Amino acid sequence: MALRFYNTLTLQLQPFVPQSDNTVRMYTCGPTVYDYAHIGNFRSFVFYDLLRRWLRESGYKLDHVMNITDVDDKIIRNAVAQGKSLAEYSSIYTQAFFEDAKLLRLEIPEHVARATEHIDEMADAIATLGDKGYTYSSDGSVYYRISHFPEYGKLSHNDFSGMKAGARVDVDEYEKADARDFVLWKAPKTNEPFWETKVGPGRPGWHIECSVMAIRYLGETLDLHAGGIDLVFPHHENEIAQSEALTGKQFARFWMHAEFLLVEGQKMSKSLGNFYTLRDILGRGYPPETVRYLLASVPYRKSLNFTFKELKSAETAIDRVRNYKLRLETGKFPQGVNEQLAARSEQAVKDFREAMDDDLNTAKALAAVFEYITDTNTAMDSDEFRMGNVAAASGLLQLFDRVFEVLEVTRSADSLSDEQVAALIAERTQARKAKDFKRSDAIRDELTAKGIILEDTKDGIRWKRK
Ligand code: AMP
Ligand code: ZN
Repeated sequence: MALRFYNTLTLQLQPFVPQSDNTVRMYTCGPTVYDYAHIGNFRSFVFYDLLRRWLRESGYKLDHVMNITDVDDKIIRNAVAQGKSLAEYSSIYTQAFFEDAKLLRLEIPEHVARATEHIDEMADAIATLGDKGYTYSSDGSVYYRISHFPEYGKLSHNDFSGMKAGARVDVDEYEKADARDFVLWKAPKTNEPFWETKVGPGRPGWHIECSVMAIRYLGETLDLHAGGIDLVFPHHENEIAQSEALTGKQFARFWMHAEFLLVEGQKMSKSLGNFYTLRDILGRGYPPETVRYLLASVPYRKSLNFTFKELKSAETAIDRVRNYKLRLETGKFPQGVNEQLAARSEQAVKDFREAMDDDLNTAKALAAVFEYITDTNTAMDSDEFRMGNVAAASGLLQLFDRVFEVLEVTRSADSLSDEQVAALIAERTQARKAKDFKRSDAIRDELTAKGIILEDTKDGIRWKRK
């Protein structure tokens, strides 16, 4: 079965192929840089990353835009309170976001687009919407008249036919099913930053940036647009209303949404105070790849209940694959090929691919890997696993790691490189041969202190990072 995704627009699982050039033009809603992102936010970002990686694995090229919302109520409030300029304030958290993203091994999209760098283009779009009769002004702000867009509600599958025309909101988030004319341009307020533009002084509402930057970099119809589930309404509904009114074309063919990360049954969020940032978790001694693994291991359309117990399990799961990899690389297996195991390897790759093709079913893909590891470990114990089976097993691990990317150990700045470790082990072996046990013990202690574990196996010494 070919690659298929669940499309929020059609409420169906649909085969996915890009429109043209074998390239997926995709847009994902990025962070609002008013504070450190929490790992609930990162669930969505890890989902985008898996999506990218699996599209590439499926043979497609990527043209991906992610926005950085660097102007909004919260950013302005915090910047003003700290006596910083908007740019000064938001650059701190933009940088923090990219540091965290790097630790989580998230690929950086082809275009990262900052809202504040596209203000004039947003003003142009608002003016065009005005020319087409979709807007009205009130007290210096400009609103989108949703009664002019009869398809409003098609993404969130809400029926807004009974809505009150002319009711409007200035805030960017409002109650579900309460459709209102939303703000495109906000009039300046005292002590707040503003821009002088063709639609007057002020600043953009939140929704317009995504329509404008998506169309600017990707064209009028995207292959795919993704975000967290909380963005379906109103944000994405509003993006559609703006974009389709501007172009007269379908804005995005596929809409994909990640479910929430929960803490004790509730959405992890800043406002509830039940959140952990990545820094909080690293501070408790968990390496970043355990967070990546945990966030990736639950299929994106299932909510994920965050617990430290699960994080521990993620750590154990990663260890299991790392140990297996080490065994593959250092084990001495009998010559030849076990044909049955060769077929088993092919099946595991097929199962993995099939699971990922099925709307990114990461849980099933991981199960395929772990069952394979169990089976082949047993076969190694009984010498049935042969030298000729190693390449296929490594191939599966490489496929696994191109998607999940957790095998490499995150190292601290003062840790030893692989070459340094190898040199110390060689020196230790020499010392032992020369019966200089003081030196060989000292080397082992030094390695232990630096987080390197030595194992004496029947096939010789092997090592791993703690
Ligand atoms: P924000 O920085 O608030 O604009 O959010 C960035 C992304 O994180 C959006 O796509 C949100 O939908 C997503 N998000 C926020 N909270 C959660 C959560 N608890 N679980 C999953 N995604 C979330
Ligand atoms: Zn957006």
